[in-house]
Amino acid sequence: MAAERPAAAPLYRIGRPAREPRLPVRLVILGATGSIGTQAVDLAVRHPDRLQVVGVSAASRVEELAALVRRLEAAGAARAPAAALVDPSAARAAARDPLLGRRLLPPGPAGLDELAALDGADCVVNGLVGAAGLAPTLAAAAAGRRIALANKESLVVGGDLVRAAVARGGAEVVPVDSEHSALAQCLSGRAAEELERLVLTCSGGPFRTWTAAAMAAARKDEVLSHPTWNMGAKITVDSATLMNKGLEVIEAHVLFGTAYRDIEVVVHPGSIVHSLAVFRDGAVVAQLGAPDMRVPLLYALAGERHWPLATERLDLARLGELRFEAPDPERFPCLALARRAGEAGGRAPIVLNAANEAAVAALLDDRLGYADIAAVIAATLDELPGGPVADLAEALETDAAARRVAQRLIEARARR
Ligand code: NAD
Ligand code: MG
Repeated sequence: MAAERPAAAPLYRIGRPAREPRLPVRLVILGATGSIGTQAVDLAVRHPDRLQVVGVSAASRVEELAALVRRLEAAGAARAPAAALVDPSAARAAARDPLLGRRLLPPGPAGLDELAALDGADCVVNGLVGAAGLAPTLAAAAAGRRIALANKESLVVGGDLVRAAVARGGAEVVPVDSEHSALAQCLSGRAAEELERLVLTCSGGPFRTWTAAAMAAARKDEVLSHPTWNMGAKITVDSATLMNKGLEVIEAHVLFGTAYRDIEVVVHPGSIVHSLAVFRDGAVVAQLGAPDMRVPLLYALAGERHWPLATERLDLARLGELRFEAPDPERFPCLALARRAGEAGGRAPIVLNAANEAAVAALLDDRLGYADIAAVIAATLDELPGGPVADLAEALETDAAARRVAQRLIEARARR
């Protein structure tokens, strides 16, 4: 195993008080039609006095994006927002749409980057899925925005690049991922040196209590039935393999500068305790709440303030107890694969992420079984060299090379 890398400078500003945001906060929502994106829209509709949406994007769903803009405008939460469709034929259709056609940006990655750095925006919600989220994160960082970051892959693939861009641009990253938002809340008002360890909680996914033999035969619909959270397809598959938690360990290392050996994962089936910070005197601070992504999302949009929100309140007496158990490394090899790739650093987490994206896409396409996901990722990591990554171009080349290798391994398995 590679030597443990020293703890890096945290990307998240631990202990420094958040600035009171100027109202209304002008939001750009990247991936507005997704699970995170539609929840961001919902929050703006509830808080039009505090949140104004100035830009939205989607991969290809023109009608859904237009419906979201209509809803935002009806609630007074947007006025002719800029729009970007990544898919060129969707962008042509959007040009003819009376709402989206008003301020349409170019298709492809260029429009997404332009939207991420849009003039007059304060905060960029990155609700994109996968490594495609990295370039827009860097564009928002260069433009000095507050980035409400749901797209954890940005930090897995480009942690060092994001850290440098945020420092150069005077930007700020606030995590939306529920565990990392919980940790940010636990660390509020603390100094980095008070912290000893992080504990990330993990629902355990749909296969927590399954035998290895049953998991090997799991059907796609079983992989996709998450016990506590309703999310996009990719993260739902990642939650069934526990790769999601592996990516989150890397995300926590980048955000909080914590050494890998000091980031623990504990399975907590109810998803009530969202994560815990352990301080150097043994005191443990946790953040709890009913599982609802709008809570960490609004906390990030609000510049780390608790704004009012009608959500389910915790009833601890009714809940009765909170359960915790250790994750099983045998049945969930993705957790260790991610930890090893994070510890190695450089190209390894990029390769891990790309192979995982290829394997998850293949599972969703019925070209790969659940049990083969970890094997494809491990074999891709074995085949490709490690080493440092200089810039975005090199990160993207590494990503593309890993996808090619993973694709070949997936096809070989399909022929067996
Ligand atoms: P999703 O699949 O529901 O939505 C993804 C959005 O991105 C859609 O709007 C889609 O049009 C757009 N998109 C997809 N591929 C794209 C591409 N190549 N280029 C540009 N746009 C593209 O995903 P989600 O569940 O909302 O997850 C978004 C991110 O947030 C992921 O990184 C995920 O890990 C993270 N996250 C999600 C949740 C959740 O509850 N959904 C919780 C924690 C973290
Ligand atoms: Mg999470």
